[in-house]
Amino acid sequence: MKKVWIDAGHGGKDSGATGNGLQEKEIVLAVSLAVKKRLEAEYGDVQVLLSRSSDVFLELAERTHKANAAGADILVSIHCNAGGGAGGFESYRYTSANSGSVKLQNVIHTEVMSAIKSFGVIDRGEKAANLHMVRESKMPAVLTENLFIDVAADAAKLKRQDVMDSIVLGHVNGIAKYLGLQKKEGAVTVEDKVNVIVNGKQIADGKLENGVTYVPLRAIGEALGAKVVWDNKTKTATVTTE
Ligand SMILES: [Zn+2]
Repeated sequence: MKKVWIDAGHGGKDSGATGNGLQEKEIVLAVSLAVKKRLEAEYGDVQVLLSRSSDVFLELAERTHKANAAGADILVSIHCNAGGGAGGFESYRYTSANSGSVKLQNVIHTEVMSAIKSFGVIDRGEKAANLHMVRESKMPAVLTENLFIDVAADAAKLKRQDVMDSIVLGHVNGIAKYLGLQKKEGAVTVEDKVNVIVNGKQIADGKLENGVTYVPLRAIGEALGAKVVWDNKTKTATVTTE
């Protein structure tokens, strides 16, 4: 059984970065809980342990002590960025990182960027810094900075469910790849189903795949007051509004 330690940054009295109506502590908690849910639902032989699963304050030392004591195989600390710039995604390993951390950072960075680049997220690169979370963790460790709270364009992205889902997916894919996890047979993808509501009407059978929402064309067209005509010979759907 592989043990994954997910560390949602900040919490409680420490909001982390704030701006544009967002608090870092809330976003990183939502991402962390979703990563646990999705990874455990879709992959076998893995357990996800969390520094925090609610809005509580923890010292940095408590986080790494717990992860080290639990014997976690990897640690991923999840944050959002601030401090100007053009926004984007970046990741950190320790300045004297071992090869495990270098590889973990590379795999997670690559998978997260691949999941979110279609939203126009800037890749700020794989970086090294003397940060407590990556320095004091005994296992391969990486810290991700998921967009800038104080950059309006990034904050707008963080308010979108499809962007948040893709950030989660990138972390899940990276962790699974690094640890060589196997998908459970017949596992239902957590993202499989999505609620779509058009003008107050629920559209059935919506699906979310790689950050794109798919819904039955007739249902959504008619909910928007359009006429939907299907020509089976030419396999053409025509949608018209008067
Ligand atoms: Zn932070």
